Amino acid sequence: MGGADSTIFARRGVATIINAAGTLTRLSSGPLAPGVLAAMQGADAAAVEIEALQAHASGVIAQATGAEAGVVTAGAAAGLMLAAAACLAGLDVARMNALPKAGRRNRIIVARGQRNGYDHALRAAGARLVEVGLPEPAAGAGCRDTEACDYAAAITARSAAILWVARPAAVPPLAEVVAVARARGLPVIVDAAAELPPQSNLRAFIAAGADLVVFSGGKAIGGPAGTGILCGRADLVMSAALQSLDADVAWDDWTPPPGFIDKTRLGGLPRQGIGRACKTGKAEVIGLLVALEHFLAEGDPARHARWLALCEAVLAGLASSGARLCIRNREATDRVPMLELRLADARAAVDLARALRSRPVPVHLARDPAAPGCLLVNPVALRETEVAALVAALVAALGGAGDERS
Ligand SMILES: *Cc1c(COP(=O)(O)O)cnc(C)c1O
Repeated sequence: MGGADSTIFARRGVATIINAAGTLTRLSSGPLAPGVLAAMQGADAAAVEIEALQAHASGVIAQATGAEAGVVTAGAAAGLMLAAAACLAGLDVARMNALPKAGRRNRIIVARGQRNGYDHALRAAGARLVEVGLPEPAAGAGCRDTEACDYAAAITARSAAILWVARPAAVPPLAEVVAVARARGLPVIVDAAAELPPQSNLRAFIAAGADLVVFSGGKAIGGPAGTGILCGRADLVMSAALQSLDADVAWDDWTPPPGFIDKTRLGGLPRQGIGRACKTGKAEVIGLLVALEHFLAEGDPARHARWLALCEAVLAGLASSGARLCIRNREATDRVPMLELRLADARAAVDLARALRSRPVPVHLARDPAAPGCLLVNPVALRETEVAALVAALVAALGGAGDERS
């Protein structure tokens, strides 16, 4: 496959792939946004205090999100763990040091239909999840999903937070959950890891009243795969930062950046906290910030046009293949456009996906659980230099089926 840098992997006998499946962690996420790699290299040229760098990052993230503060985390999952740790411990240093033993006030409430594998990160901090509601539409056995009153009924003295997992059609709406939580003094954590674009979502959940929001840095933002953003209330972000910083310093000697960490609110300096196991280095922090700035500057329409051009190029390459193709989200500039290949049925889709993965340069396409007979070209992790090879692989793999149809 093209690009001199592929020798880096070839020399080690690690096969390179074409990732048309999206910014999946297991497929090494997507390309870094322009300028990110150079900035990370530049960051290596000097030392800094990580607290000072994260304090600066907090300002950049606050500006981008409308939140009071933020930190760069080692991914959105790390952000979820730190968000839980912040809600469980607050600014109580003894509680920080005790996690994941969280005492009695350790419950985080979540709608049953929003449970997902990533919530393991909250449990890793010491939280116990309390499921509420019934996702009846998913069962085809009713029209109602979890309702605001389900959260209200579950809140007790043991509750530490509510988790709300952002999706365009998530129910109940965040504003209703926030109203219930506010009335009972509980923070709301929003998992918005994959909810960009639209770019407006950087601000939407904070604006709706969320106390903490996490975004993945390695998805549409185009930052390093091992980065994420945790933003929200200043006291909770301060707690999260304290629990992930390296804190091996004497209290008297410790002079944290005052706008970011208010030493006067602490009864001591926590030891290396639960978040120390998912640290971020200076190059990753800089890489995320540069990617975020590029994400803001590019804007949804230009980003959509760039992704759409990749889809159109693949579509054009397959024009005479006989495949049934269409482009999703062609007009929706606040969504990711994707090229859809419609196969005869789910079996045919699985067979084609497998054939593509076993080619000399393996090709990975995306699946859609709602359309099992389709495969999707997701352009977010695709490089322009890979389009010709992707088309050739698709033409070859579709070959038999295409011939039958024509
Ligand atoms: C991708 C994802 C995560 C994890 O994000 P990382 O940045 O890879 O840690 C968490 N929650 C949801 C809903 C996601 O889609």
